[in-house]
Order: sequence, then structure tokens, then C-alpha cells
Amino acid sequence: MNKKTVRDIDVDGKRVLVRVDFNVPIDKATGRILDDTRIRAALPTITYLREHKARAVLVSHLGRPDGKVVESARLTPVAARLGELLGAAVPCATDVVGPSAQATVDALAPGGVCMLENVRFEPGEEKDDPALAKQLAAFADIYVNDAFGTAHRAHASTAGVAAHLPAVAGFLMEKEIDYLGRVVTNPEPPVAAIIGGAKISSKIAVLQHLLSKVSVLLIGGGMASTFLKAKGVDVGASLVEDDQLATARDVIAEAQRRNVTLGLPADAVVADRFEEGAKSKTVDVSAVPAAWMILDVGPKTVADYEAKLAGVKTVVWNGPLGVAEWEAFAHGSHAIARFLAASGATVVIGGGETVAMVQDLGLAEKYAHVSTGGGASLEFLEGRTLPGVAALLDR
Ligand code: ADP
Ligand code: MG
Repeated sequence: MNKKTVRDIDVDGKRVLVRVDFNVPIDKATGRILDDTRIRAALPTITYLREHKARAVLVSHLGRPDGKVVESARLTPVAARLGELLGAAVPCATDVVGPSAQATVDALAPGGVCMLENVRFEPGEEKDDPALAKQLAAFADIYVNDAFGTAHRAHASTAGVAAHLPAVAGFLMEKEIDYLGRVVTNPEPPVAAIIGGAKISSKIAVLQHLLSKVSVLLIGGGMASTFLKAKGVDVGASLVEDDQLATARDVIAEAQRRNVTLGLPADAVVADRFEEGAKSKTVDVSAVPAAWMILDVGPKTVADYEAKLAGVKTVVWNGPLGVAEWEAFAHGSHAIARFLAASGATVVIGGGETVAMVQDLGLAEKYAHVSTGGGASLEFLEGRTLPGVAALLDR
């Protein structure tokens, strides 16, 4: 990575403002944290700062409170969970840059950790208001951005604040950029991309960017139906984006021009309605009944994709191959997830639903990298500059 990290700066005894992404799912009724992966992911940076007797002031968003105080979006349960993980109390201010925040920061001892309240309670956050950035910066001597999941946003706490303090990456940020970067710059060939998910429109930029990087491109999920229709296949009542048919044809032509092996489903699990308990059967894609819809790839497709992935050294996967949240339509995604886990290739997985799926399968540890940032990892793989990364000091 060409950005400085927390290792490249003297943090000993300093006050450090750390942007973390603790946007965890919380059960509204009980306030219980349903998945603390994002909190755990920031522990290496926080622990490093504590070991160096820095005073760590953590700032995060949670949900979309849209610039006002929303009681259910308070970070109190998150601070409590972090405290459990650290085995040390983590006081949480009741405001972002007000008197409570000031008092909480002032009370920090060397090696201590505190949290500001949900930064999106401040109307200036998402507007990248320089006044808010300045107020946040006033709490610290150094800024560390470890919030990869929010790095694609130019907000006061992810980008603006870097104008006022020496700004470096945390360890999670470093790891994300290293692994995702390894896929797009100098990956070990051959390289394959597996792109699935609901819509071609949300993945078109990544498809186009990766076409110049890979030798194998495998398509799944809802978007496969648009590709199939573009090739003249009757996909019945499947999810199709008719305004993307030309785009799909362009991708097919570009893959041919570049000699990229393009995988499209040969068979599919079809359902009579878009429901978990729908009637389902496996058919060749040429035989999708008129009122039925494709909700997963079939076993022939899985075998074909596995054959195309054989010998591949680097794989990036974004987007499930079917409606993987529903058991009946998860077989294709699960089969490929298991195949990749055992493949020995450098596998990098991104995307909200895709990551949730491999975690549910208990396979996350088997891959080189599972990204914590859905939208951010997608934008990175599209070749775009992430404002939260651009704002950091160059090495
Ligand atoms: P990710 O979050 O991993 O980037 P997306 O958000 O792009 O993935 O897409 C995931 C969604 O795509 C899932 O909610 C899944 O239900 C949906 N999906 C996958 N295959 C199909 C399909 N064949 N038809 C309709 N929706 C699908
Ligand atoms: Mg998603």
C-alpha cells in the first residue's frame, strides 16, 4: 500500500482519533448486537494504540440517523461490546463533539479507549462539513482511518478530518487495500472473477473493470438472467433488466475480444414464485417454464464453473450465484464457496450478502481475505479512488 499506516507514525502517548466502522446489526427490541465482526476487525489497531499508551478516541456511524439524534442508533451497546472484547471499560460520550464528548476525551488515561456518539447524529457528517471536521480533529494529535467499509464516502469523519491532522491507515484498512489491491494490481495469474447478485446495473462498473484483469469471468445471480436473455434465451419470469440487455451484449463481446472465458449458466433452479417456500425444479436454461423464474444456478453450471476455475491462482468473488438467503436456492453458491475454500487459490470475497453467506457456512477463514466493506470493496474493484483512502498521507 502506498499510504502511511499507524506503524509509520509516532503514536506513543498521543491522542489519536480513530475512525472505525462499527455499523453492526443490532436487534431493535433488545439492543443486542447480532454480529460483532466489524468490532473485532478493528481490534488490532485499537490494541496497538493501547500498547503504545496512546489515548484512542473512536468515532463511528451506526445506521442512517440522517443528521439527528435517534435513540435506537446510539453507540452505547457497541462501546459495551468493545469493552468486553478489550477487557477494559470503554466510556461512550452522549454527543459527538459537545460537552460530553469533550469531558470523555479529557478523562482518558494513556492506553485508554473511549467512543464518541454516532457521528451521523451530526448534520455536518455526511456533508463533509469542514466545521465538524475541525471539531473532531480538535480531540486528537493524529487521525487513523480504519473504517474501510465507509472509505468510499467523503464525509467529515472519513475524509474532511484528514485536512487537519496527520492522517494514516489502521491495520484493517491496510489489510483490505492490500488484498483487494492484490486482485487488481499484479495478481498471480490466471485470475478469475465470479460476479453475481441481484442486478447487472449495480455491478456493471466492476464487470467492465475486471474484464481487463481476468482470464475467466463467471456470471451468476439475478444478473445472469439478463445475460441469458441478451443471448436470446427465454428466461420466463426471471428478474431481467431490459434496459441492460445492450450492456450485457457489450460485456459478452468485450470478453470475446479479450479472450476471456465467460461462464453463463447452462442450467438453473427455477421457482414458480419469488418465495422461500416456492415450488422449485432444476431445468436447462433453454427450458425455463413461462411463469417460472431462475433463482439459482444448477448442478451442470456448478460443474462447468468448477472446471473453468481449475488451476486458477487468484479469484475475486462478489455477489451470490442465487438467492442464497433461502436454502432451496443456495446450493450453487454453497458449492462454489466450498470448492474455492479447498482450491488453494488466493480467494478474495467482497459484497454484503456474499460475505454473510461464507460466514454462515463457517468458511470465512479458508479464504485469503473476506472484505468488511460491501460498497467500498465494490468501488475499489471498479478501480475507483476511495476518498477515505485518498485523504491519507502517502508513504
Ligand atoms: P452482494 O451484497 O454480495 O454484493 P448483491 O447485493 O449484489 O450481493 O446481491 C445479493 C442479492 O441478490 C441477494 O439478496 C439475492 O437474493 C439476490 N439474488 C441472487 N440471485 C438472484 C436471482 N436469480 N433472482 C433474484 N435475486 C437474486
Ligand atoms: Mg448486497
